[in-house]
Amino acid sequence: MIHEGGCFCGAVRYRAEGEPLRVMHCHCTICRRVSGAPLVTWITFPTNELTWTKGSPARLKSTPPASRHFCTACGTHMVFEIDGARELDVAVGSLDRPADVVPGYHIFADTRLPWLRLEDGLPAYDDWGPEV
Ligand SMILES: [Zn+2]
Ligand SMILES: [Zn+2]
Repeated sequence: MIHEGGCFCGAVRYRAEGEPLRVMHCHCTICRRVSGAPLVTWITFPTNELTWTKGSPARLKSTPPASRHFCTACGTHMVFEIDGARELDVAVGSLDRPADVVPGYHIFADTRLPWLRLEDGLPAYDDWGPEV
């Protein structure tokens, strides 16, 4: 399985090969502020499966040791990574084919926005979820 994507302007592109570990919606306040959106949906891959195929993103040390990778030209937020971790998260909205992945649950649901109705029947956790 190959997942490709990139930023809005096309300056930065990536490719991830292999099976993703999980897909989840994150309602944390940091994802919200960094993206400007009510939530961010992430797909997790082993770190060594992601390759930057065009350009290279900048890193924002959002909450050390975690950082966010984004395009310096257009600002698209594409990756969340914790220093030294063996996996990283790719923003599903930056994939070329985001409809191909299926989220499994919600995390940091206790800080979700109250007007965002979660009626998808998926489990919701107030922390990183069951697989971290
Ligand atoms: Zn860009
Ligand atoms: Zn988050």
